[in-house]
Order: sequence, then C-alpha cells, then structure tokens
Amino acid sequence: MPTHILDGRALSRALRARLTPRVEALAAKGVRPGLAVLQVGSDPASGIYVRNKVKACTEARIESAHVELPGDADEGDILERIRALNSDRRVHGILVQLPLPPRLAADRILGAVDPSKDVDGFHPFNVGLLTIGIPRFVPCTPLGVMRLLAHENIRAEGRHAVVVGRSNIVGKPMALLLLQKGATVTICNSKTPDLGDMTRQAEILVVAAGRPKLVTAGMVRPGAVVIDVGINRLPDGTVAGDVDFESVSQAASHITPVPGGVGPMTIAMLLENTVLACERLFDARHGG
Ligand code: NAD
Repeated sequence: MPTHILDGRALSRALRARLTPRVEALAAKGVRPGLAVLQVGSDPASGIYVRNKVKACTEARIESAHVELPGDADEGDILERIRALNSDRRVHGILVQLPLPPRLAADRILGAVDPSKDVDGFHPFNVGLLTIGIPRFVPCTPLGVMRLLAHENIRAEGRHAVVVGRSNIVGKPMALLLLQKGATVTICNSKTPDLGDMTRQAEILVVAAGRPKLVTAGMVRPGAVVIDVGINRLPDGTVAGDVDFESVSQAASHITPVPGGVGPMTIAMLLENTVLACERLFDARHGG
C-alpha cells in the first residue's frame, strides 16, 4: 500500500482559520490576544523561528512583541523583564525562545513565567498537570503531533508507541500525551543500546533526536505511522528530518514530511494556546 503523507501545512491552515471566530469574539469584548516572545542573544536560527512566530501572529490578528535582550544579559535583568510581562494586561502568552545561552539557568527563567501565560507549557506547574493527566497548557510540538494523529483518525489506544528523544520540550511531553491516550510507550535516548530493535516494535514512531536521517527503512516496522519532528540544517543549507523519508516512506503506512509536517503544526498550536490563554484570562478577570 502506498504511504499516506501527513500534510501538516494544510491542517495547520485549517486550524488557524478556526481561530478567527474566537479572535473576533474576543475583539467584540474589546480584547486582542497578545504574545510576547523573549529572545536572549542573537542566535540566527532562533531569529528565524521568532520571526516566523511573529508573522503567524500578525496573520491571526494576535498582537505580538519580540523582546530582545543581549546575549550577555544577566539573569536578574531577564527575570525582571519576565515579571513585567507577567503583570502586563495586554500580554496573554509569554514564550522564552530556546535554547538560552548555556550560562543561564533555563529552569529558573522558564519557572519565572506566570503559569497562566505559559503558552509553551514549560513551567513546572504545567508540566506537573500534564504528568498527572489534567493538562492545562501543553507544549506546542507534541500537541501538534497529537492533532495530526487525531485528524487522520490514528488511534494510540492499545498500540505500541516508541518516542526517540527524551527532551523536556518534545520527547517527554510527547510520551506523556501518548500514554494518556492509552498507548504503551517506550522512550529511547542516545544511550539506548540498539535503537533499531526498539523502533522496529513501534506501531507509532515519533522521532525527535536532532540527528539527520537517523531512522532508516530497516528500523521501521512495515505499516507503522512515522512522525518526524527533527529539523536539521545540513551543511549545504537544505533541511532534513531525523527520518530518511525516501526509504522509510516505502515501509510506513503514514509519514510526515520535513518540511511541511510537524513544523507548521507547532506554530498553529502556539497561536491556539495564545488565544486560549487570552480567553481564560478574560474569564478570570471578568468572572466568566
Ligand atoms: P534535544 O537535543 O534537546 O534532545 C534530543 C534527544 O534525542 C535527547 O534526549 C537524546 O538523548 C536523543 N538522541 C540523540 N541522538 C540519539 C540517538 N542516536 N538515538 C536515540 N536517541 C538519541 O532536541 P529537541 O529539542 O528535543 O529537538 C529534537 C529535534 O526536533 C531537533 O531536530 C529539533 O530541531 C527538532 N524540533 C522541531 C520542532 C518542530 O516544530 N518541528 C520543535 C522542536 C524541536
């Protein structure tokens, strides 16, 4: 059977269009959702990601502010900026662009964001809620993957899902979401002795390792659903996923392309979380 390519671009467009009436309903109450993106330093890749987020906000009629701090900003200044954003009533979502310069304590900085404005879902309070199965803000990339699966009527319940990568922003929350849906979940990391032995057991395989073309056809069970989260810029300037699309698409029943798979879904989920944060904050302030 030919593989089915999961079109994250098309679904992202559709989900973003569904936000329009919600943004209009807020506008009728005199509120415009606002997202602040805090960037420390001038990493060029981060700069591109931030610009894409700001552009997507503009298209969705979400107000956005790109708060740039120098790479040598001290932690106290960064925390002060976050506190100011926490108390700014025009800001409903706060995102700290990662990675932060290594000298900074990312946990303290992410932990300073008001959990009710934590649209990335990285604050320990929101991580805890996700862990105990009552999520409030869910990290955008794994949330986008779950939406792609739901849209294609791919059920996780009763199936073996293997997640490659255990980062706090992708691998771990991804595994928790699949677990919550009733999958049996295996999480692999760079120390896993025989990765292929694990991935071949997957009915749903999510790869988020940041290693170009790590997963090849021989590592995939025939008929598996393969989700490629990786975005790797190669020396020739092109972008590759963590999955060798050409060969794996011969084996998989469903596969996401890179680009055009998970990436656009992440942006759509960020916009959705920002609108959600705005709706919740409005209700909390007006007793809704
Ligand atoms: P990370 O470096 O924080 O984590 C990578 C994880 O993969 C680690 O847990 C590591 O142990 C594991 N790993 C590395 N090599 C491995 C190997 N050979 N076998 C098994 N496990 C291995 O990266 P991250 O932030 O989780 O991102 C992963 C990838 O996803 C990157 O390419 C990143 O650019 C991409 N990403 C994409 C989106 C998107 O919107 N599509 C969002 C976030 C991250």
